[in-house]
Amino acid sequence: MQNPSLKSAYIHVPFCKNICSYCDFCKNYYNEKIVLSYLEALEDEIKENYKGDALETLYVGGGTPSCLSIKELDILFKIISKFNLSENYEFTFECNYEDINDTLLRKLKENNVNRISIGLQTFNKKFKDVLKRNIDKQEMIKKVNLAKKYFNNINIDLMYALGNQSLKDLKQDVLDFISLKVSHISTYSLIVEENTKLFLNKIEEVDEDTQGKMYNLINNILTSNGYKHYEISNFSLPGFESKHNLTYWNNENYYGFGAGASGFVSNVRYDNTRSVFNYIKGRRKIYEEKIDKNQMIKDEVMLGFRKINGIDKLAFLNKYGISIDKVFNTESLIKEGLLEENKTSIFIPLKYLFVSNEIILKVISSYNLNYNKK
Ligand code: SF4
Repeated sequence: MQNPSLKSAYIHVPFCKNICSYCDFCKNYYNEKIVLSYLEALEDEIKENYKGDALETLYVGGGTPSCLSIKELDILFKIISKFNLSENYEFTFECNYEDINDTLLRKLKENNVNRISIGLQTFNKKFKDVLKRNIDKQEMIKKVNLAKKYFNNINIDLMYALGNQSLKDLKQDVLDFISLKVSHISTYSLIVEENTKLFLNKIEEVDEDTQGKMYNLINNILTSNGYKHYEISNFSLPGFESKHNLTYWNNENYYGFGAGASGFVSNVRYDNTRSVFNYIKGRRKIYEEKIDKNQMIKDEVMLGFRKINGIDKLAFLNKYGISIDKVFNTESLIKEGLLEENKTSIFIPLKYLFVSNEIILKVISSYNLNYNKK
C-alpha cells in the first residue's frame, strides 16, 4: 500500500479547571508552569513530525483548550501558525462555555479558527452533582449566542442517559438545544468508565432498553427539526458535517499531537502517552502498529458503517482494488435485513443503528481471508 496523504491534524490540550465525574480523557488540572513546558514539548513534536502537508482539517481538543490564558493561547497559535492550511480548511477549537467571552472569541477568529465546539451536555441542573459540572442554563444560552456573533459553524455536545434522567427531561434538553439554532449537535450517552469519579462512586449506567428509547427520541426530534443524521451520534444542518471527524470515519490518515493524542501516519496507528510529565520529557509514543491491508479493510468497515450513508462501494473498490461484497459476506447480511444497499452504498438500516456494533462485528467476522486468491 502507498503512503496516503495527510490532510488532518488533531492537537490535544490536556488541561481543565474543573474535572468532570465521567471524564476518561487525558486531562490534568490547569497549572500555569506545566502549561508552558507542555507547549514547548508540543512544539518539538510538531517540528519533528509535521511534513508541511496542506491540512484540510485541524482540531484542537482536550481537556479544555479554552482554559488557557491569552498569553498561552498566543504561544499555542504561534505553534499552529506553522501548519499550512488548504483553501477550504475547517479549524475547530473546543471551548468550555464558562471561558467564552469577546476576547477569547476574537482571539480564535484572528487565528483562523472557523468552527467551535462547546461541551454543554445538559441544561438540567439536577445533574450538576452527578456530572460534577457547573450547569447554569441562562449563562450557557448567553454564551452560545455570543459565540454565534463570531462563528456560524458551532457544535454543541448533548449528553443523555444521565442517571435518573427521564424521557421527559431528555426531550426538554433536546428541544432547548434545538432552540439555540447551531449548525451541529453531537450526542453521547453517559458511559461509566473505570478510573472515573462516577465509577468510584458506583454510579450505574442506564439500562440498554431505556438508552435505546432515548437514542430514538433524540434522532426523531433532531431530524424532524432540520438536522441531518449523518453519523451514529452526530447531526448537522446540511453542509455542516464535521469534516475532521469524517477523516476518522473514512479511515484516512491524520496526525495526532500532544499527550493522549492518537494518530495514523504512513498507515501506522500510534498513541501518545497520557502522562503529561512523560510527554514533556519527550517520552511520547506508547503504542505503534503498522496496519496491513487486511486490518485496513476491517477498519474501513468498522469506521465506515458509523456513517448513515455507510460505505461507498466505488470508493471501496478504488481504494482496495476489490469490491466490498467479495471481501465480506454482505450479501447474506443484506438478505437478513441487517444491511441495506442502494446503487452507490451499503449501510446499516436506521432501525438497527442503536445496535450497530453487533452488526459491524457480524460483517467483520464474515471477512474472507482468501479473497485475494479468487
Ligand atoms: S469532560 Fe472535558 S471538561 Fe470535563 S474533565 Fe474531561 S476534558 Fe475536562
